[in-house]
Amino acid sequence: MSEFTVSRRQVLASAVAAGAVVATGSPAAAHDTAEPFPLGVASGDPTAHSVILWTRLARDLYAPGGLSRRTVEVGWEVATDERFRRVVRRGTTLARPELAHSVHVDAGGLEPGREYFYRFKALGEVSPVGRTRTAPEPWADPRSLRFAIANCQDFQNGYWPAYDALSNEDLDLVVHLGDYIYEYDPSSRFPDRRHVAPETPGLDQLRTLSDYRNRHAQYKTDPALRAAHAAFPWVVTWDDHETENNYAALVDELDSGAAHQTAAQFAKQRAAAYQAYYEHMPIRANLRPGSPDLRIFRRFDFGRLLRLNMLDTRQYRTDQPGTADFGPVEAGLGNTSGTLTGRDQERWLTSGLIGSPARWNVVAQQVMMSRTLLPNPALVPPTMANLDQWDGYAPQRERLLGVLADHRVANPVVLAGDIHSTWFSELHRDFDRLDVPPVAVEFVSTSISSDFPAAFDAPVKAANPLLNPHVKYFDGLKRGYLRCTVDRHGWRTDVRTVDSIETRRSPVRTQASYAVAAGTSRIVAA
Ligand code: FE
Ligand code: CA
Repeated sequence: MSEFTVSRRQVLASAVAAGAVVATGSPAAAHDTAEPFPLGVASGDPTAHSVILWTRLARDLYAPGGLSRRTVEVGWEVATDERFRRVVRRGTTLARPELAHSVHVDAGGLEPGREYFYRFKALGEVSPVGRTRTAPEPWADPRSLRFAIANCQDFQNGYWPAYDALSNEDLDLVVHLGDYIYEYDPSSRFPDRRHVAPETPGLDQLRTLSDYRNRHAQYKTDPALRAAHAAFPWVVTWDDHETENNYAALVDELDSGAAHQTAAQFAKQRAAAYQAYYEHMPIRANLRPGSPDLRIFRRFDFGRLLRLNMLDTRQYRTDQPGTADFGPVEAGLGNTSGTLTGRDQERWLTSGLIGSPARWNVVAQQVMMSRTLLPNPALVPPTMANLDQWDGYAPQRERLLGVLADHRVANPVVLAGDIHSTWFSELHRDFDRLDVPPVAVEFVSTSISSDFPAAFDAPVKAANPLLNPHVKYFDGLKRGYLRCTVDRHGWRTDVRTVDSIETRRSPVRTQASYAVAAGTSRIVAA
C-alpha cells in the first residue's frame, strides 16, 4: 500500500481526467501510472437483476508484470447515488495476473430498469465512478429505450470527439459492433496517436498476448472512450480487427507472405486476441485462457419492447469466396455452403427470432446485410460486391430473411458497422423484386474514427438510386455514431456526426433522422 502515496476519490464528473493521471500527464509519452485504475471502469451485459462491472489494475500500461505476479484483492460497491451514501451491493473479488489483473464482477440482486453507480477499491485506492443501468423485467412493457451504436475506432486515423458527444447523451445502453482496436503497426499523422509497436514489427499486425493487451490498454488511454464506458452499460461484440483484418474462423487474412500462418498457428494468435478482448471488456463470457474459442454471441431482452441478438460473424464463418475483398456478385450467390454464423449460431438465432415475444427484434452484428452493388472501376463486370459482407454469403442471407418473413417475426431490425459509412436500407428477400414489401430494415453505423476515402462518397451517392434503390440513406463523409429511440409504435434513428476527427473536441450534430413505423419495415425521413 505504501507504493500508492496519493489517495484519490473520483466522482463521475472527473472520470474523464481520472484515468489520465500519469506521472508526467501525457499517456503517450509516459505510461507509469501513480494509481492502479489507469484504464478506467466499465459496465455491460445488463439483465433485469445484474450487470457486469469491469476494471483492470495496472501500474505500467504496457507491462502487466509491473503489478508483479501477485493476485490482488479488489473491493466493489454498487450504490443508488453517485456519492455512495446508499450502497446496495458490495463484495470482493480477485484480480489475477493470468488475466492481466482484469476484474469482471457479475453484480446481482439489483432492481430492474434502474440507474446505479459503481466503483472499485484496490491497493489503497478508489477507482473512478461508473454509472450503469439494469434492463427492465423480461415481461415488463417499458415505454421506450434509447441507445447508441458505435464501431470502428482506428486510433491512428484521428481523435474521438464522437465518444465525447456520446457521453453527453441520455442513453440506456451503448451497443458496440466491433473494430474496437486495429492491429496495424505504428503509422499516424498525429504524433500522439501512433500505435505502440508489437513484439514483431514489420508484420503490420499483432500476434502475441502482450501485443493485444498493450493495444487494448493504449486505446483505453483515450479519455473520451473511458468517459463513454463510465457513463453507460455497453453490450459489445468483435469484428475482424480485434484479431486480424478479414480473418474467417481459423483462416487468416493472407494466403501467402510473411504474415501468413497455418490454421494451428493462427489458432494461437486468435486465442491471444480473444483473451485480451475479454480482459478489456465488460462482457459476460466463459474465458478459458489459451483456448482459441470464446462464445460471445448472446441475447438481451429489454422487457417485451426489444430483443437484442448479438452475433459473432467472424469466429465461425467459412472463408470469403474469391481472393479479394471485392468480386462479382455471382461469387456470393454461388456460395451455397457458405456461412457467416456457423450452423449452431444460426439455429440459436432462428429460434430466438421465431419464439420472440418482443415488439422489435434486433439482429446486431458486424457486416452489412443489404445487397450492395458498386460500380466496378474496371468496367467488366459492370458491378462488384464486397464479399466480406453478407453479399459474399447470399444463400444464408436469403435463408435468414426467409425465416423472418415465413414466421412473421415482429419488426426485425438489422444493425451493422464495418464499412465506415452510414447506410439505411430496406431488406428484401429478393432485391430484384422491390414490388414485394421488405421483410426487415437495416441501419449501418459510420465509424467513430476509421477511414472512408472521401473520393468514394460521390460515386456511391450517384450509383445508389440505380444499383441499390432499396438504400434510403447513404453518407461516407462523416464520422460518428447512431442514436436510436424505440417505443411500441416506432423506431427512430438519428445520425450523429462530428465535424472533424482532427481534434479531440468537435461539435456533434444530427445529420439525418429516419424512422420506421411498427409493422411496416419501411424507412422514412423523420
Ligand atoms: Fe472497421
Ligand atoms: Ca471490420
